[in-house]
Amino acid sequence: MYRLVDYITQKPVSTDNLVFTGLEGPWEVKVDLDRVKSLVNHDYFRASPPLASKYLPFLPIQKYGNFISLKEGNTPLIQSRVLGEKIGADLYFKMESKGPTGSFKDRGSAVELTVAKEKGAKAIVVASTGNMAASCACYAAAAQIPCFVFVPEGVPSSKLAQVISYGGRIVQIKGNYNDAARMAREAADKLGFYLAGDYAFRVEGAKTAAFEVIDQLYYQVPDYVVVPMGCGTNIAGYAKGFEEYHRLGFIDRVPALIGVQAEGASTIVASFNRGEKEVTPLSSVSTLASAIAIADPLDGKKALDALYNTGGAGIALTDREMLESQYMMSREEGIFTELSGGATYAALRKLSETTDLKGKRIVCVMCGDGLKDPTTVLKISVKPPSIQPTVDDFISLYDRGFFEGKTVSFVDRTETLFTDTPSPKDLKLAVKNLLEIELAPELIGRVHELVDKFLKKGKSISYADFQDIVQDATEVTAVDQKRFFHVKDFDVKTGKDRQPKASVVIEVDKEEHQGKGTGVGPVDALIAALRNACGEKLRFELTSYDVNIRSQGADAVVYVELKLRQNGVVTVGAGVSPDIIQASIEAFEEAYNAFPK
Ligand SMILES: *Cc1c(COP(=O)(O)O)cnc(C)c1O
Repeated sequence: MYRLVDYITQKPVSTDNLVFTGLEGPWEVKVDLDRVKSLVNHDYFRASPPLASKYLPFLPIQKYGNFISLKEGNTPLIQSRVLGEKIGADLYFKMESKGPTGSFKDRGSAVELTVAKEKGAKAIVVASTGNMAASCACYAAAAQIPCFVFVPEGVPSSKLAQVISYGGRIVQIKGNYNDAARMAREAADKLGFYLAGDYAFRVEGAKTAAFEVIDQLYYQVPDYVVVPMGCGTNIAGYAKGFEEYHRLGFIDRVPALIGVQAEGASTIVASFNRGEKEVTPLSSVSTLASAIAIADPLDGKKALDALYNTGGAGIALTDREMLESQYMMSREEGIFTELSGGATYAALRKLSETTDLKGKRIVCVMCGDGLKDPTTVLKISVKPPSIQPTVDDFISLYDRGFFEGKTVSFVDRTETLFTDTPSPKDLKLAVKNLLEIELAPELIGRVHELVDKFLKKGKSISYADFQDIVQDATEVTAVDQKRFFHVKDFDVKTGKDRQPKASVVIEVDKEEHQGKGTGVGPVDALIAALRNACGEKLRFELTSYDVNIRSQGADAVVYVELKLRQNGVVTVGAGVSPDIIQASIEAFEEAYNAFPK
């Protein structure tokens, strides 16, 4: 029914364990296409809908009834409304992000877990950057087989949550993906587990996406299919699927495959562009697109051949190009995909500089759902404002043009913007550059004041800090902030193994009060001191307190948001500063001043 061969030599291989790959290079499953031909009635086949079960004759499984399926595949092919026109092409998005676990991996996992089960595996072990783990854990649950997962530290938490929920056992490795892959293989070898991941059987599942694309386009072959590449298994699957359809005479040519990688993890693309026959691994990788951050792609050779054999191309992109493209796809098409899928449109734009794409039929593969890694978007986004629960505050923001500004910005947010207090004119310009909004003079004044306070703490101001400051200033709401309540000074003392003590001097309605307090931490002590200073008459209740650290480093800026209640009225306040106490005080003042007088 099928044979296993070494991919490079094409010589038969075999194994007495459940590790289906060579030490030197990948193996390949060769399905008997003559047999497939005898099993499918082509007219009937063409007319039936693209369900996973339709492609069963193409898969290396013993009995159709054994197939462990969660109705993967049959993902939508969506015609572009806006972006295709921009490059003059007939553009489609293949929504592989709509699989049962939110990535294309489910096609391969269904096949791998079926094979593992048919071969009587007692457990599977898999290395992953996240999506592979989520998918394997899901299908292992469906197959009722234990699943062990090795991931490099730093995998997005939403993917880890999926694995945990499916009952997979995660081990985080203090190394990169390839360390995890090496360990998974050794563990499978020593413990007799099935080695799941980017190996021979997975390609067989992946290739069904190519069948579907052809089926969904009513057998019109696309000119280009654009596929993000990590280990290269997915693009190898597309190449194989198109080739099998071609060999069966279902289509008369195959599409050119365009492989896309991040510049910081450009292995296959770099080797292709140098005209090499082998992929040269990298010693380290660096990209926000974690799903394609692979230093030594397991199916690199197959992917490279896919580009050469189909007359394709390789495109590498910066993180910024990918982020912008991901955002455009969301904004312009309503398609929120993981960064790797977002990269495909940027890749096409780059390709269009050297290749005429006018009138071409093109399919971009959306590998994973945008929800899989929301942090990439949150990193570039302007935090949405928090306002008092009155529509007047919303209207005031609206009237001030707040919503005409950007909600995302693609500047290098770690870059230093100010080390000395800038002039109001420079400030105004900086705001315009960053957010495309014109701030009213009184708000510029407020930004100026905050910038000055930061610099007094001895901190230079980066783009990220500045964004927080502008945000904080614009959020000071329409409510006429008369500074009824004001913290004049504070002092917090803390040390090892003793309770922090705080004292504050506040001014309320021009009257000065003092208070002292202790707490379990410095902020807690401060709030106690504020409570004592306010006394019975000005009593408040702290109902929520949130800290958000938006940059990295010991001098990171903290963003504090809190809620106060007085006589049944709840108000919110926010503050930013490199000093958590200061940020808390600013948030407190803002919330307190919002109480009705
Ligand atoms: C796995 C994955 C890739 C890379 O696919 P390979 O088969 O490793 O080349 C790209 N994007 C997403 C979202 C993925 O999950």
